Amino acid sequence: MEIDILSLFPEYFRGPFDVSMVQRAREAGLLDIRLTDIRDFSENKHRRVDDRPFGGGPGMVLCPGPVAQAIRSSRRKGRSRVIYLSPQGSPLTAAKCQELAKEEHLILLFGHYEGVDERVLESDIDEEISIGDYVLTSGCAAAIVLVDSVIRFIPGVLGHPDAAQEDSFQDGIFDAPHYTRPEVFEGRLVPPVLLAGNHAEIRKWRRSQALEKTHRVRPDLMRNKEKISEPLSLNC
Ligand code: SAM
Repeated sequence: MEIDILSLFPEYFRGPFDVSMVQRAREAGLLDIRLTDIRDFSENKHRRVDDRPFGGGPGMVLCPGPVAQAIRSSRRKGRSRVIYLSPQGSPLTAAKCQELAKEEHLILLFGHYEGVDERVLESDIDEEISIGDYVLTSGCAAAIVLVDSVIRFIPGVLGHPDAAQEDSFQDGIFDAPHYTRPEVFEGRLVPPVLLAGNHAEIRKWRRSQALEKTHRVRPDLMRNKEKISEPLSLNC
């Protein structure tokens, strides 16, 4: 997958994309991330790319011209999906991450301050995506969240092919709790079922733990699940 990130602060991404899974995916040739400075497309001698909002109000708005040029210089006909990260977008869910992981080329745009001139969103954006019902000061962190959550569904990025499939939300509910050595930590024991070696029992126990926590913490997920499958029993 190729990802172009259009930003006023390309340096923001150097740390997060140079470590861990993202770095490994890049080194393995599974992911190519390019950082573009929108200021490179300014026609202003001071490289300004934002201005005050028409109609008044606080903050600055990214001007449509440099943003459109930045998108168009990265877009490849029929191969690119252009995403504007925005609190007004549709939610970034596990299903959406899986869908995006199948794309060949993503272009990520986001705003700073008040946001981006609406006209360029109308003309050049394929989709608006939100990472949650809150407002960030800029979309840099949202872009990192999107990249990190999408690339784990690219085959070969995670060590084990099933790793992403067993995580929370894949089956509409949370993952089960995990334990490792030592068997006793400050008086707390690892659940005996995990030490007994009966894999059918371990699967059953993990499923019941996952259902119990989902029911307790996110009853909304349980309701959605019941809508699309048969009613769930917490004892299964
Ligand atoms: N005035 C905008 C509004 O209320 O909808 C918020 C602008 S916000 C301060 C600046 C930029 O951060 C946005 O243009 C967007 O790119 C990004 N951003 C903020 N919250 C976000 C969220 N929940 N999801 C994705 N991007 C977000």
